[in-house]
Amino acid sequence: AEPAPLLTVNNLEVVYNDVILVLRGLNLKVPEGEIVALLGANGAGKSTTLKAISGLLKAEDGQITRGDVLFRGERLNGLDPDQIVRRGIFQVMEGRRIVADMTVHENLRLGAHTRRDGGVRDDLDRVYGYFPRLKERTGLAGYLSGGEQQMLAIGRAIMARPKLILMDEPSMGLSPLLVKEVFLIIRRLARDLGLTILLVEQNARLALEAASYGYIMEQGKIVLDGTADALKSNEDVKEFYLGQG
Ligand code: ATP
Repeated sequence: AEPAPLLTVNNLEVVYNDVILVLRGLNLKVPEGEIVALLGANGAGKSTTLKAISGLLKAEDGQITRGDVLFRGERLNGLDPDQIVRRGIFQVMEGRRIVADMTVHENLRLGAHTRRDGGVRDDLDRVYGYFPRLKERTGLAGYLSGGEQQMLAIGRAIMARPKLILMDEPSMGLSPLLVKEVFLIIRRLARDLGLTILLVEQNARLALEAASYGYIMEQGKIVLDGTADALKSNEDVKEFYLGQG
């Protein structure tokens, strides 16, 4: 039999402000060691899905009204964000959310603050190895370029050594060249460290290059899913999500 997926989302329904139904019975699975892409247009509910997993919904009056989120067999519904972080789920937020008035180094150490193992030093070297540019930036993180901030946000996630990384739009606000670079690094990291990533992206082409499996969302539901290769050659996906070429 197949091993149970690391993360399972079952029939999830999310409502904002008691009235706006944003997720309408969402199902997805993330197997250990894989990158799974969650794709869809603006407003489809991708960020809401990540917030439902990471426990951030309540903070903005969103609520899970039906279904569940299972992580290694445990139900996460109702847990606080920091309880969920302690179980090994780390979210790289849209817009990056690095700490602007701390240095790069301090931001990276912050990522590791819950760790009690002895590997933090090695992981710092590892992150600087993947992102040599970060090592050259000794000032405050707020002065980094958009691309560098994205690299720092990813580096900080690595420092936490989570079992699952939730990545929200790593391409957002980056030049096409930088987007390519960031995605290359995500792929290398995943391969070298065996990371498990749920990747939310509007850039379907890049996401399906990095992912092994993909889900396509419309109006709060999954409308299509399959291996990345199958999705890339699907005519509807080509027409509506991959554009020309
Ligand atoms: P984007 O790529 O634009 O972030 P998305 O697929 O991530 O889109 P969500 O951000 O999850 O979509 O939003 C889904 C729907 O929920 C949208 O219609 C949005 O307006 C609504 N929504 C999101 N956050 C809230 C909130 N805090 N209160 C009310 N409605 C919200």
